[in-house]
Amino acid sequence: MDLLWTSFLNSEWHDWRGGGHTEDRLETPGWVERFLAHWGLPCPAGPADLGALKELRSLLRGMAVALAAGGTPASDQLAALNAVMAAGPVIRQIGAEHQLTLRPAGATWAHIEAEIAASLAQTLAEGEGARVRICENPDCLWVFYDDTRNRTKRFCEDKTCGNLIKVRRFRARQKRGS
Ligand SMILES: [Zn+2]
Repeated sequence: MDLLWTSFLNSEWHDWRGGGHTEDRLETPGWVERFLAHWGLPCPAGPADLGALKELRSLLRGMAVALAAGGTPASDQLAALNAVMAAGPVIRQIGAEHQLTLRPAGATWAHIEAEIAASLAQTLAEGEGARVRICENPDCLWVFYDDTRNRTKRFCEDKTCGNLIKVRRFRARQKRGS
């Protein structure tokens, strides 16, 4: 399952079939616009600050690595996350169904970054950091949120990475056996 922040993190794409091919989708024309539309976020006027987006991505990756290893983010990582959220303030609103919502107070890239940071903060606040996984296919490294009941999902997709690794292990065993 993808969350706003894991989806953003996976803009750093690795070819799961191997070969070491990677793509930085933040630099792919149209990717950011499609990403924002998919998550219902407005596309700010003006060009994105790619440097700031990549900095945020590497912060999130560091936190994901810590969580996937069963640890917790360091205090300086939390401070950095707080700084990103502080730069994109929100407005509290009550809806017609009496639901309380937080809406970005503006439509700048700082607000987009704050929304992405808040998505990870929410995962932590819900006590679900232990569900963060990095696909066990070493060529893939897709970051995902394990929403299965028994929390045993090891691959981003069983049909792709799961099968690939299973076949690889089977062949390795056959080789040793012959
Ligand atoms: Zn994978």
